[in-house]
Amino acid sequence: MPMSQSFKDRLFPIAEQLVEHYGSPFHIYDEVGIRETGENLKKLFSGVEGFREYYAVKALPNPDILKLMLDMGFGFDCSSIGELVLSRQVGARGEDIMFTSNNTDQNEFKVAAEEGGCVLNLDDISLIEKVPDFPELICFRYNPGPRRTGNVIIGNPVEAKYGLSHEQVIDAYRLAQQRGAKRFGLHTMVASNELDYTYMVETARMVLDISELVESELGIKFEFVNIGGGIGIPYHPDQAPLDIDSMAAEIEELFNAFRDKHAYVPRMYMESGRFMTGPHGCLVTSAINHKDIYRNYIGVDACMSALMRPAMYDAYHHIDVVGKEDVVRDQIYDVAGSLCENNDKFAVQRELPEIDGGDILVIHDTGAHGHAMGFQYNAKLRTKELLLRADGSVDLIRREETLDDYFATLNFSEDQFHPNQSKG
Ligand SMILES: *Cc1c(COP(=O)(O)O)cnc(C)c1O
Repeated sequence: MPMSQSFKDRLFPIAEQLVEHYGSPFHIYDEVGIRETGENLKKLFSGVEGFREYYAVKALPNPDILKLMLDMGFGFDCSSIGELVLSRQVGARGEDIMFTSNNTDQNEFKVAAEEGGCVLNLDDISLIEKVPDFPELICFRYNPGPRRTGNVIIGNPVEAKYGLSHEQVIDAYRLAQQRGAKRFGLHTMVASNELDYTYMVETARMVLDISELVESELGIKFEFVNIGGGIGIPYHPDQAPLDIDSMAAEIEELFNAFRDKHAYVPRMYMESGRFMTGPHGCLVTSAINHKDIYRNYIGVDACMSALMRPAMYDAYHHIDVVGKEDVVRDQIYDVAGSLCENNDKFAVQRELPEIDGGDILVIHDTGAHGHAMGFQYNAKLRTKELLLRADGSVDLIRREETLDDYFATLNFSEDQFHPNQSKG
């Protein structure tokens, strides 16, 4: 399910008013769609004991969105101090938060332990001795290496910097026991934007297998296994969505079989980002220029500071022109922003209806890894974010950046240092 018909039906008729009221460009998110996806996920996995989604905060780190997640009973997956602080600001505490950092520094361990702590998910065996106050509950991220072949975005596990190698797993949990850990979890993340549900089922099988291996060596009964994020969404209209129903049914079978064999079963966690919010957001931008040279260009008022994915991953994002949904797509355009980089294009050689100045373009599926990936290169600033509520009202949930924000880091006290030359 890319951008749903229901979201379109509620957004397109008011798009012009929104542009008039808030100005363009903006990202807008759909409360109804996010809640439907979340409730459906809970329903589908209700047969897996203790199932819980930990929303991957990096996908859409906006407090109003995180409140929706908390409201549905979800926790948060964080991997930086900023994400930890944000999650706590909206009310998450303790085991509501998984801290999946990598290349972790001491300051991150310190903040992770504050305010009731969180679930520490350690990325490496060398970090065990670096955790200042070792917690009772500990989790490790597992990297299967050559045991799994990767998917496109995340790459091959062998080349991925994350997690423990297979050979380190037993030692890692043993060392954690020696440091006083009594409760255990196991985590992995081997896919990104995966549309083949069987890959996710294999991941669930893999973490259960590893938990079995560790139990047989160390007697550890895992409280939970976490299969990570990575459920994909069909960005292109020709792609079929991941078959989440079959994924849930087959994973439930795996967990039931585990329980039958061991007389206990770990809880299952998941950390979807893209799947939860990706299709429930879009970037609304206005056509401001049209130039015809070797190719025909539509210049819009948003640029890649609002959406990096096309430039960074060559990603496809479908585009509609408001009011021209039924107009034949008989033009070929590159849809470009204003950044001085030729890859600042939302679409390349795309079939679109004829576009006039002032037309409103809706760039689909920007609800995850969209606004959040923005940056300020070329002094192009980030857009505002809006939330379309269930009752049809719209809230501004983040203002756009201003030049004052851009210049804020130039406001500092002078600090000139004279290194001691003799120390060479
Ligand atoms: C990015 C990330 C996720 C979310 O990935 P999606 O592809 O958005 O589902 C989950 N867990 C970890 C550790 C991540 O880094």
